Amino acid sequence: MCNQLGRKLTVFSTAAFESLSRIDSKFPFNKYLLLPEHLVANGILKSEQIITQYEPVTREQLELVHCPHYISRYIDGTIDEKELRRIGVKWTPEAVRRALHAIGASCHAAKLSLQDGASASLAGGQHHAHYDFGSGYSIFNDVVVAPEVLKKQNLIKSWISIDLDIHQGDGTATITRNWPHVFTFSMHAQKVFPLRKSTSSLDVTLHSGMQDQEYLSLLDHHLNNLHYRVKNGQLLFDLIMYQSGVDIMAGDDLGCLEISLEGCKKRDEMVVEFSKRCGGVPICSTLGGGYPNPKIHDVKKSGLERIIQAHGNTIQALKSI
Ligand SMILES: [Zn+2]
Repeated sequence: MCNQLGRKLTVFSTAAFESLSRIDSKFPFNKYLLLPEHLVANGILKSEQIITQYEPVTREQLELVHCPHYISRYIDGTIDEKELRRIGVKWTPEAVRRALHAIGASCHAAKLSLQDGASASLAGGQHHAHYDFGSGYSIFNDVVVAPEVLKKQNLIKSWISIDLDIHQGDGTATITRNWPHVFTFSMHAQKVFPLRKSTSSLDVTLHSGMQDQEYLSLLDHHLNNLHYRVKNGQLLFDLIMYQSGVDIMAGDDLGCLEISLEGCKKRDEMVVEFSKRCGGVPICSTLGGGYPNPKIHDVKKSGLERIIQAHGNTIQALKSI
């Protein structure tokens, strides 16, 4: 099915670059293999709408955002153990290849969203990566690199980050803090990582145990305020980078909220609706957290299957663009 621009949604997957050597990580890397299968099996996308072979991000593109020495240390493998522990992902040559393709996926998706109105990376959302260090499973910050590549190419002038992962987009906020062409909106829980928060343009902190109604009305309130500022010319952006982490769902191993699968879906629809209300500003979505709790067997809570479903719902919402 085509959107209003006559285009089908096209997304970018890292499935071809996922490696068995990463199984020792606590991070659920298998979701990057399972999500494309889920999208096709459930008729959300056809396999030809999922691009698996593409160019990785270049060092030059990373240098628009990150310290050249940090980039070199990571790519060349001279990064030290302490820095790697902070990232939480084992270093291997395959992990470097995957990391560069994950950032590349967001770069390609952001560019395609300018043409098609929407696109997505089925990875990325590495919002804890800072200028010269990585943390919290984030090596390089695709949420910042992807739009900055477009800005360098004079394809956009300004952009907004809407970050609805349960963890604050601290790297995104810190890197862009003094950049007048960027607005960062992060809605996150107070009591989870990172314990020391950064300052976004707009931070909304959530209390533990929050449920759908309260969460969605808070999001609605802030999206309405942002829309009001857009309508009055006080806020301008040519691209929405949407970090659609699903670790807001009840039972998430690294979360503390009680949002249902349905509530998470509604959240995605509200962000897509916001892009339409702002005059059809292109939207580029990245994934984000979603950490299955192996001890939970309640079907209403976050096992891997529900996390995949929630990510699938984000892609479904983008199809209405
Ligand atoms: Zn998260």
